Amino acid sequence: MFIDTLSLKQRVIMTEKIMKTEAKDGEIWSDMSSNENNPCLNCGACCDHFRISFYQGELKSMGGYVPDEKVISLTPFRAVMKGTESGGRCSCLIGEVGKSIGCSIYENRPSVCRAYHVWDENGIANSDCNRLRKKIGLSEIKNMN
Ligand code: SF4
Ligand code: SF4
Repeated sequence: MFIDTLSLKQRVIMTEKIMKTEAKDGEIWSDMSSNENNPCLNCGACCDHFRISFYQGELKSMGGYVPDEKVISLTPFRAVMKGTESGGRCSCLIGEVGKSIGCSIYENRPSVCRAYHVWDENGIANSDCNRLRKKIGLSEIKNMN
């Protein structure tokens, strides 16, 4: 179901379903608590577009959680998800973009992926999501209020 078909009441319920999870390092990440109404599951445009780079301290070998075999080392400090070196499809993206997708390392994805949200804390839809969704023929995500 697309967001823009939801009633205001349903959107409020969805807002409540966005959970905040505290990670081991104390950082707070927001996540959808349920797959129902999650606009990402038939999209994947961001994982197919951006260069996903992050601090190497997030790698498993460095005491973090991102699998080393899924990344390429850029510098002694930065790593990039394989496939996204010049922007493009992340090697961890599974499924068909715009139809049905998922992240094969979802629980261990890097912080840059966790920090990328569909809505901000005020319920405003991410304009980059809508720009990328438009490119692959998906409907616009509406603001929550
Ligand atoms: S572009 Fe936005 S809606 Fe699409 S998968 Fe990424 S975060 Fe989700
Ligand atoms: S690691 Fe997962 S969430 Fe991050 S870009 Fe790759 S497929 Fe997307």
